[in-house]
Amino acid sequence: MYELVQVGENSFYIESPAKVGIVRTGENEVCLIDSGSDKDGGKKVLRILEQQGWTLKAIFNTHSHADHIGGNKFLQDRTGCKVYAPGGMDWAFTNVPAIEPAFLYGGFSPANLRHKFVMAQPSAAEPLTEDVLPEGMELLDLKGHGFDMVGFRTADDVVYLADCVSSPATLEKYGITFNYDIASHLETLGRVKEMKAKIFVGAHIEPMEDVAELAQYNIDKTLEVASKIVGICRQPHTFEEVLQKLFLDYNMKMNFDQYVLIGSTVRSYMAWLKNEGRLDVDFVDAKMLWKTVQEI
Ligand SMILES: [Zn+2]
Repeated sequence: MYELVQVGENSFYIESPAKVGIVRTGENEVCLIDSGSDKDGGKKVLRILEQQGWTLKAIFNTHSHADHIGGNKFLQDRTGCKVYAPGGMDWAFTNVPAIEPAFLYGGFSPANLRHKFVMAQPSAAEPLTEDVLPEGMELLDLKGHGFDMVGFRTADDVVYLADCVSSPATLEKYGITFNYDIASHLETLGRVKEMKAKIFVGAHIEPMEDVAELAQYNIDKTLEVASKIVGICRQPHTFEEVLQKLFLDYNMKMNFDQYVLIGSTVRSYMAWLKNEGRLDVDFVDAKMLWKTVQEI
């Protein structure tokens, strides 16, 4: 963990729970793509930059999940670097991470949900747009997993994919992984499948030269979850019952964190399936019952 790996002439990443990208933009100047999971992660990242004699100019956040923005505050306090976050929502969550547990829980959250894996320290982020990027670096629209998630293509043709693809091992182990907007996620995966680059660096996968097969596997697993929900709702069920059946089917262990993370994801699937005309709801005995109206 926390080794520096070079993947292009000026492109690197730091091996860590969510990989931190590094792009050298001048003789001794660098920008980061995400910042590590927390203050300790930020400290380890800074130590590596200091060992190399690099000055940190900016952090470009791919999205606002705590494991990607957790080092922002420490690094910004220590170096005075700029922080940039994409879109309205991710920008807002990066500035005010207390929204995250409220969003996941759907109301005032129990205190035990406000821990560092859900809620990072706030950092002063500015909007991430093309014009703040170093010359030759491109912004890639990867929304779906996160509200307005982005990736980057560097001048030396390295593509940083953030969290848009999960590894086969993760998908096999968990069955369902966090997702916000299923329609956008599928569109993103369709585009990623067609991409070519010298190397692809995803935050939670091994770097790879060809991402097409993994993108298709992620599409297949996303559609598998959707078709399971449509199957379950042939008999009308409450959301809680649908969630329970999915947890049992995928052999997932329910706890507070999983309840809100996978619960939020399943709500997103059901909203998407309703928008697509596959599911509808009835209100019976003060219960909202989801039912399948069109098979996949
Ligand atoms: Zn994420």
